[in-house]
Amino acid sequence: MTATILDGRAVAETLRAELRAESATLAARLGFTPILAIVSVGDDPAARSYVAGIRRACERTGIACRPLELPLATTAVGLRAAIDELNADRGVCGVLATLPLPPHLPTSVIADSLAPEKDIDGITTTNAGRLAFGWPTFAPNTPAGGMEMLRRYNIPIAGNHAVVVGRSGIVGKPMALMLLAADATVTICHRRTPNLAAIVRGADIVVTAAGRARLITGAMLKPGATVIDFGINFPEWAGGKMVGDVDFASALPVAGAITPVPGGTGPVTNMMLMRNTLAAARTLLDGA
Ligand code: ADP
Repeated sequence: MTATILDGRAVAETLRAELRAESATLAARLGFTPILAIVSVGDDPAARSYVAGIRRACERTGIACRPLELPLATTAVGLRAAIDELNADRGVCGVLATLPLPPHLPTSVIADSLAPEKDIDGITTTNAGRLAFGWPTFAPNTPAGGMEMLRRYNIPIAGNHAVVVGRSGIVGKPMALMLLAADATVTICHRRTPNLAAIVRGADIVVTAAGRARLITGAMLKPGATVIDFGINFPEWAGGKMVGDVDFASALPVAGAITPVPGGTGPVTNMMLMRNTLAAARTLLDGA
C-alpha cells in the first residue's frame, strides 16, 4: 500500500477559486476592495520573499495588498502608531506583520495593539486566548492550513489520537489547540520528550513542526496514519532541495495519507490569510 498524497497545491487552487468569487461579491457589496496590509520593520530577505508570496495570493484572490515597510530604526512607539493608523482605517480589513521583528521590538508591541478583528494571523493576545479557550477566532495561518488539509480530505479527527511534534507559538501549539477543538485526543511532543518513536507510533494523525529533517521515519508510524508535515528544512544531504521533518520515502508505504514537502501544507497557508481577510471584511457588511 502507498499513502494518499495530500496535495496542497490542489487544495490551494480550490480555495483560491472559492475566495476569488467571494471577494468579487464582497467588494461589490462593500463598495471597495478589501485591503490586506503587511507591516515589516527593516529589510529582511526571508520576510521579503514571504511578502512577495502574499502579494501574489492577494492578486489571485482579488484582495488589495498594501505593504508597509518601516525603517529598521522604528521605535516601539512608532510601530504602535503605525498599527493604530491601520486599526482606524476602515478599508484595511486584515493586518499582517512579518515576524520576527528586529530584536529591539518585542512581538508584544503588535500582539497587544493590533485590533483583534483585523488580526488575520491570530497573533494578538486576544485571539491567542480565544484559541486557547476553544472559541471561534482567527488562528495562525500555517496550522489553520493543516486543519484545512485534514478537512478537505475528510480525514476523521474526532476521537482520534493526534501527536504534534513541536510546540512553537505559531505552529505546533496552535495546531494542537485546533485539533483539540476538533475533538482529537492530543499529545504534544518537543525537544525534551523521551520515547518520541513510541508516542508517534500511537498516533492516528502525526503533525510535525520541529524543523528537523528525517526526525520522523516510516518505522515510527502506525500503519495507515495521516501525516501532516510543516517542516521546512534544507539539509546538506538533500543538495539544496527543501525537505520536511518526515522521511518521505520510508513514510510513504506505511502512512495512510501524507503531505509532501514541498507541495503539501505550504501552498495552503497564504490562502488562510486571504480567507481571514475576507471574513474580516464580511463583518463590516454585517455591521453596516
Ligand atoms: P516552528 O516555528 O516552525 O514551529 P521552532 O524552531 O520554533 O519551529 O520550534 C521547533 C519545535 O520543535 C520546538 O517546540 C522543539 O521542542 C521541537 N523539536 C525540535 N527538535 C526536536 C526533536 N528532536 N524531537 C522532538 N521535538 C523537537
